[in-house]
Amino acid sequence: MELNNGQYEIGGVSVLSLCKEYGTPLYVYDAAIIERQYNRLMNAFPNKNMKISYACKALTNISILKFIKNLGANLDTVSIQEVQLGLKAGFAPKDIMYTPNCVNIDEINKAVGFGVQINIDNISILEQFGHLYGNTYPVCVRINPHIMAGGNKKISTGHIDSKFGISIYQLRHLERVVASNNIRINGLHMHTGSDILDADVFLRGAEILFEAARSFKDLEFMDFGSGFKVKYSADDNTTNIEELGEKLGIRFEEFCKEYGRDLTIMFEPGKFLVSESGYLFVRTNVIKQTTSTVFAGVDSGQNHLIRPMMYDAYHHITNVSNPNGIQRIYSVVGYICETDTFGWDRKLNEVHEGDILVLHNAGAYGYSMSSNYNSRYRPAEVLVYKGLAKLIRRRENLEDLLATQLDVEF
Ligand SMILES: *Cc1c(COP(=O)(O)O)cnc(C)c1O
Repeated sequence: MELNNGQYEIGGVSVLSLCKEYGTPLYVYDAAIIERQYNRLMNAFPNKNMKISYACKALTNISILKFIKNLGANLDTVSIQEVQLGLKAGFAPKDIMYTPNCVNIDEINKAVGFGVQINIDNISILEQFGHLYGNTYPVCVRINPHIMAGGNKKISTGHIDSKFGISIYQLRHLERVVASNNIRINGLHMHTGSDILDADVFLRGAEILFEAARSFKDLEFMDFGSGFKVKYSADDNTTNIEELGEKLGIRFEEFCKEYGRDLTIMFEPGKFLVSESGYLFVRTNVIKQTTSTVFAGVDSGQNHLIRPMMYDAYHHITNVSNPNGIQRIYSVVGYICETDTFGWDRKLNEVHEGDILVLHNAGAYGYSMSSNYNSRYRPAEVLVYKGLAKLIRRRENLEDLLATQLDVEF
């Protein structure tokens, strides 16, 4: 978002005119940022066999999936429904990775029916899979290397208490199950959670995977998951992608030589690709002065963007209606009957009732985690690319709320 002649714009389109045309609350995505992030990650790695699978749980709108497919990406999915959305968006089954967690074997059978790459994260399901398919359907396994990503247990999946992955300490057991069922393991996977700051943490995980790879002779790829940290506030640190690309990329090529085959190196970023591209525009309904603070109450809440309340995530806020106003301190809160605070003590250009505020970095886990709580409608979504803005999801209405309900009287 840039300020041009006193007007905020996204990719050359005035944000206030978007809010006028489509109403608020409104999600707007800048496709140029998604493209920039994709290219940055691809260019950071020297490897010729490199694939990025977009972890679509971050933002699943089908127009976004198509845009990312056209960049050349694969798709990373965590449910059969995401698999189906991916197929609908035009991804080839072989380009879809399905990494479920704690699902029933029936859902995995469905995924086999669709022909997608399956990634299994526990020994019990792997055993059942082996009984059903033997070596006729290759499968990837998710290893938990128990490296700790970041300090936040809510978003880390690599710690010892995590429910994700097959523990590296179970490698012998895993080998036994694979051998006795004649299972063909074509990939090894790790995803240790969000917010890895340090390239060396990734490298430690990679070394553990390289070591484990000696037990599997049919590998075609290795998937190092995601965890690329994104800047939410101005003083946030981020993963040094270029340093990681250089170090891990070179180490991976050495490993391929030892292994004796050119494998594909894969990553599954969600946040990294789409977080910065997204903006949530909200309208100020009321300015409410209490004894302790000034609240700006807006026409949105935890039903549309739950990250501040769920993860204590910081989302930068800007008043786009009054770019030159004097700065004052506000607590920006939602209209849901919960304490749904978007931000305490934010310095904003003076806010008047009716002003449009924007929550930045709302592309990942924004709309995709939204709900109808308080029977509110979910917002519309707009995608901007090369000066053009297109509606990619209409706002909900009362019929949508009632669509699945049966009106029964006793
Ligand atoms: C959520 C998830 C990702 C993406 O994580 P981000 O932090 O959004 O990059 C990647 N892989 C798997 C298996 C996931 O569950």
